[in-house]
Parts: sequence; C-alpha cells; structure tokens
Amino acid sequence: MKAITVEPKRPGTARFEDVPEPDASEGSVLVEAVAVGVCGTDVEIVEGKYGWAPPGQNRLVLGHESLGRVIDSGPGSSLKEGDLVVGIVRRPDPVPCPSCAVGEWDMCRNGQYTERGIKQIHGFMSERWRIEPEYVIKVDPGLGMLGVLLEPTTVIAKAFEQVLMVGQRSFWEPETVLVTGAGPIGLLAAGVACLGGYEVHVLDRMETGLKPELVRALGATYHSGSAADLDFEPDVIVECTGAGPVIAGSTEKIRAGGIICLTGIGSGGFVNRAVGDVAAAVVLKNNVLIGSVNANKRHWYKASERLARLDRKWLSRLITRREKPENFQQALERTPDDIKVVIQFSEI
Ligand SMILES: [Zn+2]
Repeated sequence: MKAITVEPKRPGTARFEDVPEPDASEGSVLVEAVAVGVCGTDVEIVEGKYGWAPPGQNRLVLGHESLGRVIDSGPGSSLKEGDLVVGIVRRPDPVPCPSCAVGEWDMCRNGQYTERGIKQIHGFMSERWRIEPEYVIKVDPGLGMLGVLLEPTTVIAKAFEQVLMVGQRSFWEPETVLVTGAGPIGLLAAGVACLGGYEVHVLDRMETGLKPELVRALGATYHSGSAADLDFEPDVIVECTGAGPVIAGSTEKIRAGGIICLTGIGSGGFVNRAVGDVAAAVVLKNNVLIGSVNANKRHWYKASERLARLDRKWLSRLITRREKPENFQQALERTPDDIKVVIQFSEI
C-alpha cells in the first residue's frame, strides 16, 4: 500500500511511497483511510523540526487528524464494517505516570507518551491503518467528511472543560468569550462557544474574506486588529495564536476573575510588554492563565458530541481544499484562503 512518510529531523525527506500493510500488532481493527487533515505540526515534521520514527525504524508515516472506514472490526469489537471512525492520537507512557495510569494521557507528567504520526507510532496518512479498539472513536455517519475535524475539536473540548473547572474556584457566571485567532482551532472554538450560549467574539488579523464571514455566520462578532483596541472585557479568552503580543494584550483585556486558556504554541519573548507587567495584570485581577494541550478519551467523546451539533454547512466551509495523496506537498503549503486542508485517500 501507499503512505506519506518522512525521515524525522531531516528536511526534504517526505515522500508518497510503497510501505508494508499495517502490522497486526498495531491493533485488531483494520481501517481504510478516507481523509487526513493537515496542520502546522505536520508541516514542522516535514521541515525536519520535530518528530520521531517508531523504535528500530528510520521513517514515520505522517498524519494525526484521521477519518477512515472500518474494513475489519476484528474480534470483540462493537464496530461494524463500513463504520466511519477516527483514531485517538496519544498513547499513555509505559511507566505509567499517575496521570496516564488514570487515562489522562493528555496530562502525562514524564513526557514518555507516544503519538500517532508524531512520536514513535505511525500516523494515519496511509491507504490502510490498524488501531486498538479502545482507541477508536465512532463518528456520527451524517458528518461524513466533516469527521476529519474531530481531532482539532478535541483540543477545544478539553480547553473549555479546563476553563469551566478552574472557574469553580470562585463565583463564576461567564457570559462573554473571546477567541484569538481564526484558524481551524479558533473557528471551532467559536462554534463550540456559540453552542454553549455565550456571547462570542473572534479576533484575527484578516480584515476581509472567509474568516470574518464564517464568524458572522455563527452569529458571533468579528474584530480585526489588536486585542488592546477591543471595547469589552471577556470573561474567557481562548488563545489560539501563540503570539506574544496577542497573549500580552489578552491579559490587559480579560475581565477581573477571568480565565485565559492558551492553546497556541509560539516562540520568542513578549514584543511589547515585559513578563513582569503581564504578571502584574494577572495578579491584580485574579486571572488564571492555563495551558492546554492534547485530549483524553473523555474529550474525544465530548468533541464528537459538539461536532455533531454544529451546523454541517458551516463546518463544510472550514475544509477549504482537498488534495490527493500524491499531491501532499501542495497540501502542506498554506495559502491565505486556506482554513483546513485535507488529503483525501478515498471517496466517501
Ligand atoms: Zn504519562
């Protein structure tokens, strides 16, 4: 079969090539790939910045935003042939640490977890893949191709859960949610926040185009420019850019007692405010800054419930391009009009 593979930490080594069929040791459920979403992590792996091949191998099958169709459900599984499924990405560390031991592998404490398509386990960008039944999430069949958005939605399901749990530390009736960044994660965050009945605002650099349209289609308010110019104080900020100035601006704008959940990964220092100033703003308003990454099984179930409730026409506009596996290089290149690009392996 064919797969998109890369030699991690070596730029320019990605190719669409013949590989052996998935090994039975990878799981009793055999799945035919339908589509795999592309995200910044895949681009970084192909650029050689990140990624680990399975032990004893030098190439890694890419891809962690999966959607597939069950070919063989294997013994002892409630799945049926033809079911649409998505694979959970992370696996607990082998020790396991206390978090992994209770199934919260997203909170792994020793960093020895593994991840499909990223860290030591092959991903989903192959014509067929295998998976353990306990790591399969069945997708609402009515979602069809939109099931490929489940993995990014898990990031949001966890972020909102964390925010609501932390909010319980004091009197807490959040009304206004600001999402910074209108990429796929930001737009899904806005969609999920609208389901929760909040007044939702989205901030991004783009002034026109699909992003503002998609935000307004949700009934939410779109803002372009800097956080410092916003004329309201959100109770919750879901930060999806990882950009220092946006984070610093968020700490200025958040309401007293409000919570900022950081989901973006950036680098470098704060450009326009010292860390001490940011800390002072957080202290004086009793704010909480939470980092949130990955998701455990509970979040996958929550995400699949939220995704099924979002408007299908709206979700379908998030997938702005579909590429064939042999054209994976084009799929990795972002154009300004792209929100989510998917590599399509088979018809749905
Ligand atoms: Zn762990």
